[in-house]
Amino acid sequence: MKVAFIGLGVMGYPMAGHLQKAGFDVCVYNRTLAKAEQWQAEYGGRYAETPAKAAQNCEIVFCCVGNDDDVRQVSLGEHGILAGLPPGAIFVDHTTASAEVARELAENANSQGKYFLDAPVSGGQAGAENGQLTVMLGGNEAEFEKISSVIAAYAKFSKLMGPVGSGQLAKMVNQICIAGIVQGLAEGFNFAEKVGLDPEALVETIAKGAAGSWQMENRYKTMFAGEYDFGFAVDWMRKDLAIAFEEAKKKQVDLPMTKMVDGFYQEIQEKGGNRWDTSSLISRFKN
Ligand code: NAP
Repeated sequence: MKVAFIGLGVMGYPMAGHLQKAGFDVCVYNRTLAKAEQWQAEYGGRYAETPAKAAQNCEIVFCCVGNDDDVRQVSLGEHGILAGLPPGAIFVDHTTASAEVARELAENANSQGKYFLDAPVSGGQAGAENGQLTVMLGGNEAEFEKISSVIAAYAKFSKLMGPVGSGQLAKMVNQICIAGIVQGLAEGFNFAEKVGLDPEALVETIAKGAAGSWQMENRYKTMFAGEYDFGFAVDWMRKDLAIAFEEAKKKQVDLPMTKMVDGFYQEIQEKGGNRWDTSSLISRFKN
């Protein structure tokens, strides 16, 4: 099966690699050409000079770029994905973006006899590299059925959440929950340090109970050590929370705790932590 992958960033590069390794005929596109050349040298496959050319003759085109505007840039216009994608083919967007842009692109695709699924992911860089991502999708059952065995090349779990936009709405919930969990850990671990508890003994014990979480198990060592130079960047988190705030405003939903944590992330950006992992919330307690 011929497929294309647009956007070879931290996430897209290994995801496209998993598709090629799984036996699909992959054509990639990346704005910075050197990354496409590097990808081809590493995995084989092909690369194209525009998203439209990459999407030509493909049954499915995947995309993983930055934000709403970036998705529009690679999708629309004469060099965009939709210009090259054949009728009947499916466009799967893995970018974390708004539900609105998902609906806009689905409408555009459908008017040309093409299909669109929004499909943001969770699991981070490690999940992309190990092929262990979780994918939440919005769109029709028929297209989901067609693509689910393909995305299994890099996903340990995928689920259709509802109509177009529902994948992005589920990702908003994911990010709202993470903000609260990480702030809880930052406060708990800071308290533990100040009262003189041993971090290893503490986490070994409480991670088995009701306070246990992915963030606790995977981030406690670096949070206690004050290391944040890896992982899911604060800039990305604030982009994602801004999308959630926009949606919440439209539906008149209150997000008081998330708003507060977003303010803490802003403080971290102001001290230069733009690329730090989201667990850097604990740095506000360290001088
Ligand atoms: P990244 O490393 O910064 O890569 C972004 C990719 O998109 C690059 O290939 C970049 O091309 C391309 N791109 C951005 N804007 C573009 C534009 N206007 N036109 C063409 N290409 C453009 O980002 P990432 O970490 O892979 O994240 C990608 C998406 O996945 C984001 O929406 C992010 O929120 C989401 N996500 C990330 C993680 C994570 O842990 N990193 C986890 C879950 C979800 P260039 O190489 O030319 O810059």
